[in-house]
Amino acid sequence: MLTVSLKDHQYEIIVKKGCLEEAGDFLAKIWQPQRVAIITDDRVAPLYEEKVRQAVTTAGFEVVTHVVPEGEASKSLAEAEKIYAFLAESGFTRSDGVIALGGGVIGDLAAFAASTYMRGIHFIQIPTTLLAQVDSSIGGKTAVNTSNAKNLVGTFSQPDRVLIDTDVLETLEIRRVREGIAEIIKSAAIADLALWHYLENLKDETDLLAHAQYVIIETLKVKQKVVEEDEFDNGNRLILNFGHTIGHAIEKTAGYGVVSHGEGVALGMLAINQHAEKQGLTPAGSTLALKAMIEKFHLPTSTEQWDEVALFEAITHDKKARGNNLKLILLETIGKAKIHTVPIEELKNYLHKEAL
Ligand code: NAD
Repeated sequence: MLTVSLKDHQYEIIVKKGCLEEAGDFLAKIWQPQRVAIITDDRVAPLYEEKVRQAVTTAGFEVVTHVVPEGEASKSLAEAEKIYAFLAESGFTRSDGVIALGGGVIGDLAAFAASTYMRGIHFIQIPTTLLAQVDSSIGGKTAVNTSNAKNLVGTFSQPDRVLIDTDVLETLEIRRVREGIAEIIKSAAIADLALWHYLENLKDETDLLAHAQYVIIETLKVKQKVVEEDEFDNGNRLILNFGHTIGHAIEKTAGYGVVSHGEGVALGMLAINQHAEKQGLTPAGSTLALKAMIEKFHLPTSTEQWDEVALFEAITHDKKARGNNLKLILLETIGKAKIHTVPIEELKNYLHKEAL
C-alpha cells in the first residue's frame, strides 16, 4: 500500500492481486453506505463490471452503472454531459460517489465528471490498463478533449482511493501492455536507478507482467514523489514528460492510433537522449542502454517514418505563443532527470532523422 500525501488531501493506493473482489470492503473503509456510480467502457464492462458491482453491493452500497463507448473519442464534453445526466437522473447528491473502472480514458473522463458534478463529488479509481495503473490513475489530473486539443479542459482533483488489481492485466492486448511499459521505462530513467536495473534483468513483457506488483509499486513511487512535491504542475512535475514532447508530436503527425502514445514516448525518449548525448549533456552510452531497454519490450526504435518538418511544426504550434524557449527533459544520468531549456530552433537538432 502507498499513501499519497498532499497539502489538503491524503489517499491510499492499494496494489493487490485479486483486489477487485474486495472493492466493497475497501470502499466501506472510506465511504458511508451511499449511492455509487460505476463509470466504465463497453470493453471493460463485460469483463469486470459485475465483479465490482457485486462486491460493492455486498458491502451495502446502492450501485448503478453507466457504460461509455471504449476509446479516446469518449473523452469528450458530450460524454461528460451524459454522465451528469445519468447521475442527476439517478438522484446523486454530493454525498454519493463515483468509481472510474477502466483505462486512462475512463479515469480522466469519470474523474472529470465527478470533480465537476455539483462542484465535485467523491470518486475512486480502479485502473484496468497498465498505463492507468502506473500513471494516469494517480496525480489528480482529470481531462476531456475538445476539437481544439487533447486534454484542453480539465481539473486537478484527487481520488479518495486507488485500487489496482494486477489480475486485470491478463485480458489486456499486448500493444496496450507495452504502452504502460513505456511509462515504466520513463519513470525508471528519470528517477529510479534501482528500478532501471530491475527492468534490465527482466526478459520481456511476459516476465514483467509476472512481476507486475513490484514494478507497478516502484513506478508509482516515482510519480507519487513528484506529485507530492508539485501537485499543480508548476515546477518539477515536468520531468514526468521525458520523451513526451516529441512523443505527442509523433502521435499527432502519424494520426492518433497509428502510433500509440507509448510508442511515441519510446521514440521521443530515444531522440532526445541521442542528441543530448552527442552534445555531452547526458552520459555517454545512455542512448544505447535506453535503446536496448526499449527493444527488449518490443517498443519501436526506428525513426524511418519521421517527417522532421511536420514534427517541428506540431511541437512549436502551441508553444510559439509562450516564448522562444522550450523546456526539455534530459537525463543527468540514468535514474535522474534534469530540466534543460533550449531555444525553440535548437529543437530541430533533436528531431534529426538519423539511425538511432
Ligand atoms: P484506454 O482507456 O482507451 O484503454 C485502452 C483500451 O483497453 C480500451 O479499449 C479499453 O476498453 C481497453 N481495456 C482497458 N482495460 C482493459 C482490460 N483490463 N482488459 C482488456 N481491455 C481493457 O487507454 P489508456 O492507454 O489506458 O489511457 C489513455 C488515456 O490516458 C489518454 O486519454 C491519456 O490522455 C490519458 N492519460 C492521463 C494521464 C493523467 O495524468 N490523467 C496520464 C497519462 C495518460
